[in-house]
Amino acid sequence: MSVFIGIKGHCAYCDITFELKPWQLNAIAIHEPFDCPYCQQILQLSCPRQLRQFKSLDHWGMVRPSMMVMTCAVLIVAMVAEWLGLLSVIGQLNVSLVVVLVHFLVLRYARYRQRLTLNLQAVNPLPIEHIARIACARLGQ
Ligand SMILES: [Zn+2]
Repeated sequence: MSVFIGIKGHCAYCDITFELKPWQLNAIAIHEPFDCPYCQQILQLSCPRQLRQFKSLDHWGMVRPSMMVMTCAVLIVAMVAEWLGLLSVIGQLNVSLVVVLVHFLVLRYARYRQRLTLNLQAVNPLPIEHIARIACARLGQ
């Protein structure tokens, strides 16, 4: 999954930033805590803003293929328009240059948005009484 290249995690406990492995990213995606590879502290992504950013990565992954399709379509349309005499050679060249430029700018921005460092908070295992209280409260609703 190329979407997930460049995502780092920062352990709040030992203050080390490390590249997240696919299984760790999966754990974050399903809200499952996992061990820090350095201090073995159990970590979780609890910041709602970062969680939202993390979830939106899927959309950014779609940018590259859809931009590819759009750019190719515009290039072909410009070429056909030139053949039909609707566009001059210079006009066709301008349209092509602009669309290629936009293509690279969008991809650059998408890459920039995908570069994330997630601040992982240490979670303490909940005491049994606490879990029981939550369960009781849920049942009571
Ligand atoms: Zn750590």
